[in-house]
Amino acid sequence: MIVVMNPGAEQKEIDRITTKLKNMGYGVHLSTGENRTVIGVIGQRREEVAQTMEAMPEVEKVVFISRPFKLAGREFHPENTVIKIGDLAVGGEELVLMAGPCAVENEEQLMEAAVAVKKAGARVLRGGAFKPRTSPYSFQGLEKEGLRFLDQVRSKTGLYIVTEVMDQFTVAEVAECADIIQVGARNMQNYYLLRELGKIRKPVLLKRGLSATIEEWLMAAEYILSGGNYEVILCERGIRTFEPYTRNTLDLSAVPLVKQLSHLPIIVDPSHGTGIAELVPCMSRAALAAGADGLMIEVHPNPQEALSDGPQSLNPRQFKELVGSLKGVAASVGRTI
Ligand code: PEP
Ligand code: MN
Repeated sequence: MIVVMNPGAEQKEIDRITTKLKNMGYGVHLSTGENRTVIGVIGQRREEVAQTMEAMPEVEKVVFISRPFKLAGREFHPENTVIKIGDLAVGGEELVLMAGPCAVENEEQLMEAAVAVKKAGARVLRGGAFKPRTSPYSFQGLEKEGLRFLDQVRSKTGLYIVTEVMDQFTVAEVAECADIIQVGARNMQNYYLLRELGKIRKPVLLKRGLSATIEEWLMAAEYILSGGNYEVILCERGIRTFEPYTRNTLDLSAVPLVKQLSHLPIIVDPSHGTGIAELVPCMSRAALAAGADGLMIEVHPNPQEALSDGPQSLNPRQFKELVGSLKGVAASVGRTI
């Protein structure tokens, strides 16, 4: 249930209502919009709260939330959430490009990729140090050393870093290096990990699970939000279907649907979404046309030699061309890039 304050309610009025709710034994989550504050009320005995709150002069109305994702839903938070990372905003007018290799392989490879993606217009460097590989015989990532390289490249290039965390035990270590912490598709329903991420104050990029419904995905976001970390960026990266020609089926209808259901920003990863480098430019443009707030794209200095996901990685020249082709699409949906 949410309590909607009168437009322009003063801080002391908001405080009075939240204190009253807390004294009645309810949990509260504040959402402050440009001209309205909305208070999410967590707890049982809905009728009791509704009656008491409706009688308060500072309160405009009480709304029962029908969706199970209370904090991730638009009912609770009608305005888009914009996540600020330094001088970058995810979910605002400017579209955000995150690009880089699937895995950090060595310092030179990472630096080369970083310089190239930055020059082409990316603001965030991606690169996995902890890699969730399907086969235990595949390259597993450089782990701590990889984080160190990411850190060095960040200082040299000024790019922000997004990198994956694989379990709840390494959250602190990854958070120290990352500007955005990635939860991979395979971990979308790792609830211990999600709870741990709810405790920190750093943006989380939550990828959609391989076979997750949109509701399951938003409920996973709810785990993080309910811990008090309100900075969740969703990432559509394709889902498993019966179609074998692509690695996954990129569900672009999820973008406008998630925008209807949730206030959280959503980006698209057409690299994992298709598994085929040639399809990435086209699906990137389609993703922006569908309303995505940005893209995550795998770029490797030499995809033929990549230790992971080479077939879906663009080379620097292809990435530069792709970015050039996005400007018109961005403008057509009222965004900039
Ligand atoms: C990745 O980003 O390299 C990755 C492993 O992605 P996903 O979790 O979407 O498979
Ligand atoms: Mn990858």
